[in-house]
Formats: sequence, structure tokens, C-alpha cells
Amino acid sequence: MLTKQRQVIERVLKRASRPLTRKEILKFGREELPKLGSATVDRSVNTMTKNFQLVGVSFPGQPTRYELPSGQEHPHFICHTCNQVYDLDIPMQLPRVKLPKGFYMTGGEVVYSGVCPKC
Ligand SMILES: [Zn+2]
Repeated sequence: MLTKQRQVIERVLKRASRPLTRKEILKFGREELPKLGSATVDRSVNTMTKNFQLVGVSFPGQPTRYELPSGQEHPHFICHTCNQVYDLDIPMQLPRVKLPKGFYMTGGEVVYSGVCPKC
């Protein structure tokens, strides 16, 4: 049962090809699985994130969005008008940084912002 719901979440994210909030995952997921519940989505998203099947993308003042792990580092774009977050299909490499002592890095993110084509 849970497997089926995870498959729906995966399909929804694949189709969207941009990071989605839990609310959006629920909305699009229900188009496929009308009985999909919000607690189930929460549980699945948490488990999938823990298992590295999903990657959380967060921006200040915004709900966390989730996307499928991609083999490629890619920048995100956030629209100031509609707050939509897009994946930019541009291969890129994060600049290497030398962290101060005591810091341990597990990820990084490049975010551009501006106005999207829809706005
Ligand atoms: Zn926009």
C-alpha cells in the first residue's frame, strides 16, 4: 500500500519536473489516487527524504519543496511574483569552499531569482 503511494509521489514529481510542496504533491497525487491522504503524503515524504529518494529544497519564508534526486547539480529559480520554484536544466558545479573549523557540509544550493515566463 505504502509502496503504491510512494510510486504516485515519484510519478507526480517526475511529471512536474520542478520541486513541489507537500500541498502540491497531495493535490497532483489525488488526481491519480483520489484517496491519498495528507498524513500519508507527510509520512511518505519523510521516509523518502530519509532514504535519499527525495531531496528537500528550502528557501527562506517558503514551505520546503521536494524533488527527485538528480545525478546532476542544477540551479533553482524562484519567481518573486508567483513564488514558483523551477529547476533550471543547466549543469553546473558548486564552487568549492573551505569551511571554518567544526563545520561539516552535506549539501549546497544555487538559487537564482526574478520573474518567470508565466508572470
Ligand atoms: Zn511567476
